[in-house]
Amino acid sequence: MTYSQIPPMGNALASKHRLQYCAAKNLLKHAIATEFGGLGDNFQALVAAHFALGKSCQDTGLVLSINAHLWGAVFPVLRYGCAEQQTTWLPALLAGDIIAGHAITEPQAGSDLNALTTHAGKTQTGFVLNGQKRFITNTPIADMMIVYAKLDHKLSAFIVRADDLGANFTDASQVDGCASATMGDIILQDCQLPHNRLLGKAGAGNMMIQSALELERAFIFAGINGIMHWQLQQIIQYSRKRRVENTHLGHKQAISHKIADMKLRLDSSLLWVNECARLKDNNKRISLASAQTKLFAADAFLQSSLDAVHIMGASGLMATQKMAVLVQDAMASRLFSGSSEIQKNMIAALLGTGSGYKSKS
Ligand SMILES: Cc1cc2nc3c(=O)[nH]c(=O)nc-3n(C[C@H](O)[C@H](O)[C@H](O)COP(=O)(O)OP(=O)(O)OC[C@H]3O[C@@H](n4cnc5c(N)ncnc54)[C@H](O)[C@@H]3O)c2cc1C
Repeated sequence: MTYSQIPPMGNALASKHRLQYCAAKNLLKHAIATEFGGLGDNFQALVAAHFALGKSCQDTGLVLSINAHLWGAVFPVLRYGCAEQQTTWLPALLAGDIIAGHAITEPQAGSDLNALTTHAGKTQTGFVLNGQKRFITNTPIADMMIVYAKLDHKLSAFIVRADDLGANFTDASQVDGCASATMGDIILQDCQLPHNRLLGKAGAGNMMIQSALELERAFIFAGINGIMHWQLQQIIQYSRKRRVENTHLGHKQAISHKIADMKLRLDSSLLWVNECARLKDNNKRISLASAQTKLFAADAFLQSSLDAVHIMGASGLMATQKMAVLVQDAMASRLFSGSSEIQKNMIAALLGTGSGYKSKS
């Protein structure tokens, strides 16, 4: 699969067109059964397709946008939606006609899920939501979001449309990393929802968040590894072309060892992602493997991006080069889907040690 005709980067509308181009290439249908409109293939096929996209687009923002849509909305509707919700939402989500994501983070609550305050109350016709979500990928281009709010003191998931009364999907709070993904706050002021917008069981929100983030952590680096592959090829070419002291830059051991490390990080990261795919395809749990994958791959991406800039010297910092942008993207990757520290907490907890602190893990 190639993505050579991908629309150019630009404003939020351009980001939407880029995601919809990928949808038209069936990228949103991998690892989903044909009865639900998917391709009926497996997670290993998903990894291969996302890797190919990363190689072609070299855009971490697009990779993040697609992953937020898939793991934040498509898979939760697939897994927890009732038949009516699946029929209503899945065809448009898989076709990219509806763009979505998930809204967990709030201004005062990132890693700590206990600190979330967005509130859901019951009404005669359904629910009323109040609160504010922050740093939510896809918000400016989204038609709907899976919003997590406390109903009777327990987190529950709600399907909120951008045009619901009392819902405001903004383009505020943009961060520099992964910019093309688009990001915003979601402000809910007496947002009225009918009964059929509760996704999954009332009070099951915490478990649903863990399940969504587990998949996101396992597979978001499939696309990013494609970008890292491109990054490595660029650096190899540069080190062959650039001359210092009458020899190629790559002949300097200090440089060639950095390149060897980049290759090792890329392949190790890809092995982790493929291990998650293998586990999923065999119906095995990925709690530990996905935390390890996210932790390892984000650090690998950051270190290789720093090395790439360094090897290129000042040229690596030029605006026309993507290398410096990738450093910011890599820094963001250590935070989204649960930060690196949270992954360590999770790994320790799964090994029967650590604080057992309830967080985005
Ligand atoms: C590009 C990008 C896209 C994002 N997209 C989304 C999205 O679509 N939906 C969404 O809901 N959120 C999204 N987020 C938010 C993201 O999930 C949070 O940034 C993340 O959970 C960390 O929260 P925080 O930024 O508030 O940092 P904090 O939770 O305030 O943490 C600050 C620092 O303290 C560390 N820390 C916190 N708690 C602990 C602990 N218990 N032990 C050790 N260290 C700890 C963290 O690792 C971090 O280094 C996105 C973020 C970024 C950067």
